Amino acid sequence: MDLSLLRSVYAPKDFKAKGRETIDLISAHLYNNLSEISKTVIPWKNPEEAHTFWEEFLKNGDINTFQKLVLEQSTSIHHPKYIGHQVAPTAPITIVSGMLSAFLNNGMAIYEMGMVANPIERIITDLLCAKIGYDTAASGFLTSGGTLANLTALLAARAAKAPTDIWNNGNTIQLGVMVSEEAHYCIERAVKIMGLGEKGIIKIPSTSTFQLDTSLLQEYYDNAIADGIIPFAIVGSAPCTATGMFDDLELIASFAKKNDLWFHADGAHGGAAIFSPTYVHTLKGIEKADTVIIDGHKMMMMPGITTAILFKNNNNSYSTFSQKADYLLDQSNDQDWYNSGKRTFECTKNMMCLHWFTLLKTYGEQVFDDFVTCLYNKGKEFAQMILDEDHFELAVQPMSNIVCFRYIEKGLSPQQLDELNQAIRQQILEDGNFYIVQTKLKGTHYLRVTIMNPFTTKEHLKELVALVKQKADLLNN
Ligand SMILES: *Cc1c(COP(=O)(O)O)cnc(C)c1O
Repeated sequence: MDLSLLRSVYAPKDFKAKGRETIDLISAHLYNNLSEISKTVIPWKNPEEAHTFWEEFLKNGDINTFQKLVLEQSTSIHHPKYIGHQVAPTAPITIVSGMLSAFLNNGMAIYEMGMVANPIERIITDLLCAKIGYDTAASGFLTSGGTLANLTALLAARAAKAPTDIWNNGNTIQLGVMVSEEAHYCIERAVKIMGLGEKGIIKIPSTSTFQLDTSLLQEYYDNAIADGIIPFAIVGSAPCTATGMFDDLELIASFAKKNDLWFHADGAHGGAAIFSPTYVHTLKGIEKADTVIIDGHKMMMMPGITTAILFKNNNNSYSTFSQKADYLLDQSNDQDWYNSGKRTFECTKNMMCLHWFTLLKTYGEQVFDDFVTCLYNKGKEFAQMILDEDHFELAVQPMSNIVCFRYIEKGLSPQQLDELNQAIRQQILEDGNFYIVQTKLKGTHYLRVTIMNPFTTKEHLKELVALVKQKADLLNN
């Protein structure tokens, strides 16, 4: 058989040339965005138009222009006017660690295939455990995303707290998870995946500041028991996604303790504040959680996706997936941390620990403090700016870098205001020079920003406020 095609696939020389070209392109794109030479944050196209474009490209496009087009036609996370979803502008050095992981493809599930990654992952997760305030009984690992980490935590919770062995026998009893109505939707999804059904998700209403209303916990718990549901876990959001408001982890912890529930803290967004002396108070009580998750790709500058899941008691991390896979794992009961497949949902996974280690070794812990502290400060600044404006209101005084606000005007009905804010956001999206998002909170439509770029300044934010005003005026006339 002719191997020439495959030889060209693996030709080191071609890779070197192509790789350098890619780094040059990315560097230029980074420069153009940070310096705002590029004005476009989101080159909006409707989905059908975008589909037609790429279909045509597959037929007749020139592959040498592909990377350039991908960069040009994607949303620019590194632009200071990207103030939308909670994804980090990746630290460029972690792009390089991503290349290493992609090249090595050391899947990590067993030690031989992760002789670098497994020890590094242990070092990173041990550091995070110490920062949380856990003692030496704690440990953790990295997994692909907050969604998967939350599911993993709830599975560990069920293994630890359910009165019967559900892993082996299936759902023979009705279990339930208590969580704020404001929690990320992946918690409900996890509960449904676990087969607990609608009854299995016990949603606690939130306060007027969108935090889990802890005064209702006992009532909801008692009602669940009366309905034949056995609550086994409670989830605190740190913070919840839509508003960036933190649940009272301290109070949730004591409720969990009193009722022998597993306490899981979803710190996907805000867990990184363990590195910020200024904002670590937002996480008060987190050290009492049985599990904590922290996303590297949100407030820690890493590329998607990498999430740390941390267990207060190491033993629980080994009993989540107690399943035999003879060809992979020796069946000893040893806590062999170096065979990471024993503890994760995943079999093959990326060497995501390289991002954490590279940032830490290159810049030190300070870099995580600087990032979180600077962005949370900007959240406060922006909120003050909104308060100082006549035609604007905040949904709530923010506790992080997530701010929900809206344009208001006397004489308009609630529905008209909702429609107006929706229309404003749609126009901003289609113009493409800012990227902000939107959310519905207790039935009211809000504009939502997450300030993710340390180089987003007061001037950018003032410009955004002016733009919203200008859009509102145009829409009203
Ligand atoms: C983003 C987020 C998640 C989901 O994490 P992914 O890494 O996107 O899967 C879960 N919980 C909270 C609170 C979040 O903010």
